Amino acid sequence: MAYVLVAALLRNGAVTSNVMDLLGGARAMADATNGRVAVLALGAGEEKVTSELIARGADDVLTWSNRALASWSGEAGVAALVAAAELTSPDVILMVADSAGRDWAPRLAFRLGAGLITEATGWKLDEGKPVFTRMVFGGKAHAVQASRRPVSVATVKPGATRARPPDARRTGNVRPLDLAFSPSAGFPVLVETAVEAPKGPRLDDARIIVSGGRGLSGSENFSYLHELAEVLGAAVGASRAAVDAGWVPASWQIGQTGKVVAPDLYIAVGISGASQHLAGCAQAKAIVAINIAEDAPIFDQARLGVIGDFREVVPALTAALKEMLGK
Ligand SMILES: Cc1cc2nc3c(=O)[nH]c(=O)nc-3n(C[C@H](O)[C@H](O)[C@H](O)COP(=O)(O)OP(=O)(O)OC[C@H]3O[C@@H](n4cnc5c(N)ncnc54)[C@H](O)[C@@H]3O)c2cc1C
Repeated sequence: MAYVLVAALLRNGAVTSNVMDLLGGARAMADATNGRVAVLALGAGEEKVTSELIARGADDVLTWSNRALASWSGEAGVAALVAAAELTSPDVILMVADSAGRDWAPRLAFRLGAGLITEATGWKLDEGKPVFTRMVFGGKAHAVQASRRPVSVATVKPGATRARPPDARRTGNVRPLDLAFSPSAGFPVLVETAVEAPKGPRLDDARIIVSGGRGLSGSENFSYLHELAEVLGAAVGASRAAVDAGWVPASWQIGQTGKVVAPDLYIAVGISGASQHLAGCAQAKAIVAINIAEDAPIFDQARLGVIGDFREVVPALTAALKEMLGK
């Protein structure tokens, strides 16, 4: 029987879609072993947050909110996770491989004497114990890893698992975590958070992403992608080549050293399909590639490919979609 603890950092008082996806995977892991799932909800959220977590698969929800989460987010999160682990004695602790999860996981594993697996893309169970897979060598190979310690801490890439539909009949226990936290002066402090003006859906949550690469030849040509994205309600991303050229902000970068996304549809325009780029978008349900070179490696990964100049293909696609969708 596996007891799985999931870390859920609330954003603006709500559970993110990445956490919901992870919770879906945690539920499947627990079900396969007649186990239980606990979620540690970090940050102030309304009561509907805890019921939503239970409806989506949690058996136990621990809540903890503290001002320190805003300034000492790393230390406060680790302290709460240690307390939650002491309370629940989990076999597996899962967190999303985002900036918070990457910050917490190694410190948590050290404090608990647990094994650490980072950037997992999935797992299977071997005699009830999870064996994780992760991409290595820029996505060219998979490593299979299991913890030798009784407890495993793992960061899981967004999109590795999917959320379950809510089941309002599920019941669970909710209790606040009894933890007083006072950060020491030596802890790193979050000084400032710069929030980009929201324009369309966030890359992390978007179900459709239109992404541009060096083939666009300049920042001005991203306007082709914005028009297409607007019709589709999509977010716009980019390859590292486009970011390095200064055409778009670094926060748009998809790939090994950028964001890892898992949309339903990923439209790659003027992107060759380097393994480091694919490491960030290979979890998409479908990739559509638009590229002028018929031998571009991206076509090997694409469900659908269009060979052509983006200046002709993208406006034609935008116009056809506008007509189809009546926009
Ligand atoms: C350690 C490391 C980490 C990295 N991390 C990342 C990462 O996180 N993300 C990332 O993206 N890359 C990353 N890279 C870089 C990666 O190796 C590639 O260099 C990069 O992805 C290439 O970007 P691109 O596909 O836009 O450019 P290119 O490889 O130059 O491809 C441009 C494509 O545009 C096509 N094209 C040209 N003109 C047109 C046109 N008119 N219409 C349509 N298509 C056209 C070309 O045929 C070509 O296929 C990393 C590299 C290293 C070494």
